[in-house]
Amino acid sequence: MAIIKIKAEARVDIALAIDLCPVEISGIGEVVFEDGIRHITETILIPQKCFYEYTTFDWEAFLRYSAELNKRRMATRSLLGTSTKRLWWHSHVRGQAEFSSKDEAYIEQVSRDALLPFNPWLISIVGNKHGVLTTRLDVFRPKSARTTEYTRLPLSDGPYTREMLRDLYYARLPRMKSLIEEMVTISADAPRSSWELDEFSSREEKT
Ligand SMILES: [Zn+2]
Repeated sequence: MAIIKIKAEARVDIALAIDLCPVEISGIGEVVFEDGIRHITETILIPQKCFYEYTTFDWEAFLRYSAELNKRRMATRSLLGTSTKRLWWHSHVRGQAEFSSKDEAYIEQVSRDALLPFNPWLISIVGNKHGVLTTRLDVFRPKSARTTEYTRLPLSDGPYTREMLRDLYYARLPRMKSLIEEMVTISADAPRSSWELDEFSSREEKT
């Protein structure tokens, strides 16, 4: 089974983003693949528009952002495939930390549009304000090795005591607060579609 670990700062930043943002929020992250272990080393917030009822991860904004980062490397075509940005994380606010059918569709889209045919994989994390995180690894080829889900995500640096993690959380809180203010636009006018609203209500019923 593949091993995924996360740096304490990256873990705390995901928790902060989910805790501080009143709506669904999403981002990407750096993953270093070393000695068979995938280490999430950094979580990154990108400019996004969120809605009170639900949000969609804007892949176009993400691809534009990746293209910016890749400009100097002449690798705009491959985006995720050439980069170490192999993490997609997002919040379900107070809903269950489970991948929805919409999330599955996004992950499918990454596999189709953004990745190189060589060794393509992506880590996805969904979390909520109750502190639950679910992590999955999608290996797109071979298809048979597709998905592995994890409920625990061990820290790659440490050990950390509870107190140390709490201190790190509060030390990084002002930074995340200003990042959210800068990057996240909250709109009350969500573009609605019955399909997405149905999905939202079924998620609420489960809690
Ligand atoms: Zn989701």
